[in-house]
Amino acid sequence: MIKFYNTLTRKEEVFKPITDNLVRIYTCGPTVYDYAHIGNLRSYIFADVLRRTLELAGFKVKQIINITDVGHLTSNEDEGEDKIQKRAEREQKTPEQIAAFYTKAFLSDLKKLNIEKQKILPKASEHIKEMIAMIEKIFATGYAYETKDGIYFDTKKFKDYGMLSRQKIDLERRSRVDKISGKKNPTDFALWLKTTGKHKSHIMKWDSPWGEGFPGWHIECSAMSQKYLGDEFDIHTGGVDHIPVHHENEIAQSYAANAKIPAKFWMHGEFLIVDKKRMGKSEGNLLTLAELEKKEYEPVTFRFLVLRNHYRSKIQFDDEKMREAKTALKFLYSSLSRLKRPQAKTIVAESTALAEKINQAEQEIKKSFFDDLNTPRVIDILFEMAHYLNKLKSEDKIGEAEIKDALERIYLMADKVLAINLTELVSLKKEIPLEILKLAEERQKAKDSKDFKLADKIRKEIEDKGFKIEDTRGESPYRIIPSNK
Ligand code: AMP
Ligand code: ZN
Repeated sequence: MIKFYNTLTRKEEVFKPITDNLVRIYTCGPTVYDYAHIGNLRSYIFADVLRRTLELAGFKVKQIINITDVGHLTSNEDEGEDKIQKRAEREQKTPEQIAAFYTKAFLSDLKKLNIEKQKILPKASEHIKEMIAMIEKIFATGYAYETKDGIYFDTKKFKDYGMLSRQKIDLERRSRVDKISGKKNPTDFALWLKTTGKHKSHIMKWDSPWGEGFPGWHIECSAMSQKYLGDEFDIHTGGVDHIPVHHENEIAQSYAANAKIPAKFWMHGEFLIVDKKRMGKSEGNLLTLAELEKKEYEPVTFRFLVLRNHYRSKIQFDDEKMREAKTALKFLYSSLSRLKRPQAKTIVAESTALAEKINQAEQEIKKSFFDDLNTPRVIDILFEMAHYLNKLKSEDKIGEAEIKDALERIYLMADKVLAINLTELVSLKKEIPLEILKLAEERQKAKDSKDFKLADKIRKEIEDKGFKIEDTRGESPYRIIPSNK
């Protein structure tokens, strides 16, 4: 049984796909006007773990991450300049060049963090036709009105407005209503903005039934989710900041157009915090993945740090936490490496109890993933089992077959979701011979004692035997790969 916390109902609920074996997920993606910061990246690690957990459960998953390359203004509330255009002007480039550059950087960050590649990454600017069609539908059902600067959604017409964030529409949550001419209620938001008045010099613009202009920020997600996933799909994800505005507005738009709440489950990842403040552009406390790499941290260490925390808990990020994560991951890697070594003798003792223990751990890992993505618990189990197995090994109470079984059933399985490079480390298909492992250890010792001549000699010997040895900057000092890989 799989259970997820649903922001819509504020409860953990049993998850079942709407149709057959396929789970459809929409993940709100980045606005590509700058490098992603590690707070943003935390939210995509959460979406990746969600996807991988559903795959572990045997479902097929269709997940969309959109790329916002137009229409997201510097204020989330239809004011200010277009974020991408502003950057383009500063760098004397076109908005398209800015968007292409930062999309590429974003995808490279995802890859480094072992986030599975998405087949569909739709761009807002390529779906204007779908957005216009949806706005026309919203007009036809009576939820939209025109002002001199754009088309707005009338939130008062949607009686359930506020259902996700549980805010009251009458509560003047924003008092800027009178600043935007013609807006009826403070919570009303733009579906389309005309390139007149303050938006006169907007660069990316299209023809529409309401004159030349560009879309509001929220409509892209309603239009693209409908196009790729249908009127009603399984899960919608984003960060907690999306609850009160972006996702609330998506629900309103999609309901107005299709008379359905677009997703069954709404799941939100908590913030990454620095010095008590959310990591964010306006706070001036940004850190990118490249900056972590400069400090000699591998991206996978950041992924590990994120997963040691539940996605619905805040992470207080600092250098100390990164160092701790690095040490812990290194410890896990080295205990697995020790286990991997083939035994000279094979002693099978307490084998029924051991098989039972492995079985239990396997079940508990799955149960934890399926219990609203309890990754911290899974990681605890991995450490507990590594201690236990190493202890048995040092007492000569465990045989090769049991080690192999434990590695396959526990570590390879958990890594399908955690993706913290355990698979590479314990992969049993390309088992490295004991002789090579010993040579690699000798080489490391030579390097540690600065005998580089000897280290080079051993490296050559390893290569002659058909293996490559690669030094890594990170948590495991080296990696051995068969030469034909
Ligand atoms: P944006 O590009 O600003 O739309 O943000 C991309 C994603 O990152 C959204 O899902 C946000 O909710 C999320 N996000 C932004 N700041 C943080 C943060 N400090 N911690 C975690 N997630 C964040
Ligand atoms: Zn969105």
